[in-house]
Amino acid sequence: MNFADSEIVASVLSDNYEVCLEVKKADLILINTCSIRENAEQRVLKRLVELNALCRKNHKVKIGLIGCMAARFEKELIAEGLVDLVAGPDAYRFLPLLLDESYQQPVNTILSTIETYDDISPLRFHSNGVSAFISIMRGCNNFCSYCVVPYTRGRERSRNPETIVDEVKQLIDKGYKEVTLLGQNVNSYQWNHDVRFHDLMDKVASLDKSLRIRFATSHPKDLSDNLLQVMAAYPNICKSIHLPAQSGSNVILERMNRKYTREWYLQRVEAILSYMPDAGISTDLIAGFCGETEQDHQDTLSLMQTVAYDFAFMFKYSERSNTHASKHLHDDIPDEIKTRRLEEIITLQQQLSHKSNLSDIGKVFEVLIESRSKRSDEFYSGRNSRNKVIVFPKSHYKIGDYVNVKVDNCTTATLIGKIVE
Ligand code: SAH
Ligand code: SF4
Repeated sequence: MNFADSEIVASVLSDNYEVCLEVKKADLILINTCSIRENAEQRVLKRLVELNALCRKNHKVKIGLIGCMAARFEKELIAEGLVDLVAGPDAYRFLPLLLDESYQQPVNTILSTIETYDDISPLRFHSNGVSAFISIMRGCNNFCSYCVVPYTRGRERSRNPETIVDEVKQLIDKGYKEVTLLGQNVNSYQWNHDVRFHDLMDKVASLDKSLRIRFATSHPKDLSDNLLQVMAAYPNICKSIHLPAQSGSNVILERMNRKYTREWYLQRVEAILSYMPDAGISTDLIAGFCGETEQDHQDTLSLMQTVAYDFAFMFKYSERSNTHASKHLHDDIPDEIKTRRLEEIITLQQQLSHKSNLSDIGKVFEVLIESRSKRSDEFYSGRNSRNKVIVFPKSHYKIGDYVNVKVDNCTTATLIGKIVE
């Protein structure tokens, strides 16, 4: 989401600035921030101190803090002289104004109920020219008890589908081969009561057969059969679903205000596999939430075994101020226990990923070539429909081509193979 937002910011500033990826040469440095865990915020604060030491010595460079940390830190950071301006996630249109020397208060952290930046064409400086992120909605109304997003990014609002389709068409014209539609909970996308997420997917997938469509993130409570039917009907909609479970214990799920049970979650997984038997499922998990017992933790491990996730993002619970959990629940699991439980979750996920990758040896997958492999210049890297990374010798193909790759080896994280003509 922040990658996509930074591209909007670059576009908003493009009349007066051009993107410069070398910190030491920049006149303006904007740090796009995340507040989801304390660790993320600590890293930004450390980076701000480093950047001040590095960049402010020789010439007058401006430093700005943008994104989710804006509202939480605006006063103290300006007072400490670490930043010159602060802009929240809904204030990016005001950046030229905040950068104007005559503007007295270079701070805007007001959250909007309507801003979707739908008329702004992102300046795709992160892109490989093949894959692009498209924000289709902003904010979140779910208020999971641990989560700061509804407070830092505000109320959920969906973007006009016509502007989304137009953006996709422009990307197709420029030669892009894959788009990822983004939102905190894409399943609750809704425009004027008549365009739901599955309708949007249908519109986008029907534009061009050679354009792959991905999306993130799906909240399990809202994952509809309509969406699964649309996914199954289009070969160019990738057969992978990121479905954050957070926990395998009903007690914890209720305490987290996730609004589904373990049984509901497993029934949604069954539905995914009944429509798309080859679909890959991935997840997010939190270890050591308030009051989590050893049995609750075992329930998470057993959920992982049952679903056999392809991969997972795994975190230790980190208390965030303002959230329901910070006000009404005790962050009572000692750090050593959180760490041990997280390690058990990570170890199990590595085993599951490895097992899943081993079962792909001998199979042939259609792969979109996305980049040169990080390990070797002689290899390309791409993903299959199921979102697994595959590396293979380049042959005479180029980035952006689709190739068929036969898997002959793997690690826990990556499939290794060769192009079959
Ligand atoms: N909207 C997405 C998640 C966005 S945040 C969804 O609901 O699926 C990404 C992930 O960060 C969450 O899924 C959760 O696993 C993790 N997370 C959020 N708040 C956290 C906290 N306070 N401590 C630890 N992990 C957290
Ligand atoms: Fe946070 Fe829950 Fe919203 Fe995801 S759905 S952003 S975890 S409040």
